Amino acid sequence: MKPYTHLFFDLDHTLWDFEKNSEETLYTLFQEFNLAAFGKFDCDSFYKKYRFVNTRLWDLYNKGKIDQKELRESRFVKTLTGLGLEAHEVPAGLSEAYTDLCPTKTAVFPYTFEVLDYLRSKYELHIITNGFRDVQHIKMSGSNLTNYFKEVITSECCGYKKPDKRIFEHALERTKVRPNDCLMIGDNLECDIEGAREAGIDQVFFNPEKTKSRLNPKPTYHIHCLSELQAIL
Ligand SMILES: [Mg+2]
Repeated sequence: MKPYTHLFFDLDHTLWDFEKNSEETLYTLFQEFNLAAFGKFDCDSFYKKYRFVNTRLWDLYNKGKIDQKELRESRFVKTLTGLGLEAHEVPAGLSEAYTDLCPTKTAVFPYTFEVLDYLRSKYELHIITNGFRDVQHIKMSGSNLTNYFKEVITSECCGYKKPDKRIFEHALERTKVRPNDCLMIGDNLECDIEGAREAGIDQVFFNPEKTKSRLNPKPTYHIHCLSELQAIL
């Protein structure tokens, strides 16, 4: 193992449990907006369809094919028209209500705090995220993550999104470190792993769902639980 000094973490789906927090939010909104009254889908179908739509929209966003405004405006329209509603029936304010509520949720992956407590004494910790600046800070402070990290680099701040290697180069410059001394930890093979590799940074692929993904070339490390980081670092 190289003598790393700086660790870069992704936030969503790596530390902050996006799916659990999103699911809780959608269940609340299903009740608040009385979506059952349409009689076309239940809460579980609403969650599953949203998850499907949102994952694809984020993929387009990460590839630079849509912007933040389009992502936020279209996710519920696509979800609900996909479940049988007409576009004009989609309740006004649903997307804003989601954006207000979801970042206040606090679920993190198992062993997040144990691992960060262990790592903070040995390494400088930073975040690199494609998430939106207005919500990432709310997520971090609400779930007590803020104090572990020195720099929070968002794609909005630096103008480039992962996997563009320029966001990693920006991070290296801002934290005054060489690629060889860093490790990137994230759940997204394209954004986190390939992006970091392009920038000359070693990578840890966090794969809690144990998906059988294409791993070619292989990430430097591959883990299924954050607790495994203690064996590596
Ligand atoms: Mg992620």
